[in-house]
Amino acid sequence: MRYWGYFIGKLAGAAVGMYALWLAMQALLPEPVEFMRVKMGGFTQDLTWTLAYLLYWLLACGVLAFVVWDQRRRCRICLRRLRMPIHTGNWGLALLFAPPQTESICPFGHGTLASPETHTSTAQPESWERHGDMWEELEQMDQRPR
Ligand SMILES: [Zn+2]
Repeated sequence: MRYWGYFIGKLAGAAVGMYALWLAMQALLPEPVEFMRVKMGGFTQDLTWTLAYLLYWLLACGVLAFVVWDQRRRCRICLRRLRMPIHTGNWGLALLFAPPQTESICPFGHGTLASPETHTSTAQPESWERHGDMWEELEQMDQRPR
């Protein structure tokens, strides 16, 4: 729940920022020109506004892509960025036995994200593996007979 709440919060923050930029654009750019007593529309009829719309659209797509990219690389529990990416698998056995993937881990040990690097027929989904309590596991290792 916290993970998706953070994602919605980031989307809302990005939307507020883009709306503020939209208002600034409306205030700062000159009005579309008047041609033969007809006020031209901004989009596709005025070069300044058309370029402004294009750049605004590109920026909005970039902000949305960044928000999604950043969210996918966060821990599902504590929301910190995942660290220590390692490459596993083997490109020689990529199709069946050991597909190459990148595994990143939460710095506090909450889980591991495995991102496949080969997509044979369709895009392979990322998989999140939640870890147990690592202190409990260490205590169990310490209690083993030696
Ligand atoms: Zn974590």
